[in-house]
Amino acid sequence: MKKGDMEMINLAYQDKQLEKYYKEYRKRSLSLMDEIQSIIDSGFTYENLNKYNKNLDRFKREILKVIDKLDGYNLYMAKRLLERNKIKNKDILYWWILFKYVEFMYQMEAIEKEIINAIDKHFIEETIKQCESIVDKTYKINSENLINEAMQEPNNLGYEWNTYKTSITEYNASEMYDNIILNLRNNKNKVNRDILERQQNRMIKKNKTKFTGALDNQIDFNTSYIQLHIFEKFGIKKARIMGVLDERTCEVCDDYIGKVYKLEDIVIGVQVNSHPSCRCYLEPVKEYE
Ligand SMILES: [Zn+2]
Repeated sequence: MKKGDMEMINLAYQDKQLEKYYKEYRKRSLSLMDEIQSIIDSGFTYENLNKYNKNLDRFKREILKVIDKLDGYNLYMAKRLLERNKIKNKDILYWWILFKYVEFMYQMEAIEKEIINAIDKHFIEETIKQCESIVDKTYKINSENLINEAMQEPNNLGYEWNTYKTSITEYNASEMYDNIILNLRNNKNKVNRDILERQQNRMIKKNKTKFTGALDNQIDFNTSYIQLHIFEKFGIKKARIMGVLDERTCEVCDDYIGKVYKLEDIVIGVQVNSHPSCRCYLEPVKEYE
């Protein structure tokens, strides 16, 4: 196998899977926009934001739809809101939007899990083959466990995936809410599509056929995590940092690309995946190479 062969195959596979997620995100994000628009159209104006609303049936039905997907403070608030018989319009607006975002992220999670599993499993198989070709050993692995382990670890940017998603859901909802308030103040009542676009780009951004964004970064992290784990199981002691040589080769990683490190010295986030969506990867090195 030529250097780089395996990895190019993997990245093409990764991009193909991410394309599925990207399309789904786009489609659902347009529905989210329609739903937020329908919330605004249900009667919010800048003048009535601080007024109490007593007609809470529709809002409470929305809470009930999403309540089993909530936890922590949001769940606490949902329960409290259900008990109230009058709520200020601005609070209804904020929580309604947040609940829509929670539902959206929940729907995206199904496809997210599907593509992460597909990509990681593919990578696990390829890494095992690669190790078997340089070490006279075989190794059986529980892919599910290894993938879960990678997902629960703080990644190269220092956050754990599920925590990140909870924060980004709240951040996005607040960003949308603030923008709606600003618009209502200026007598505009149309959802700003640019905001949804910006939010999508944070999660997954398409650049020709390649992807960046938080999900892509998490997958790149998983790859390095999986590689290090499997190398270790094969008794491999050293690995080389490899750059993907194409129009998007990481320039920041120049100092590390091509260098060989002991496994125990490799820190994901330092020599590899030192920046978001770093596509550098590791190559196992034979004992006496
Ligand atoms: Zn890189």
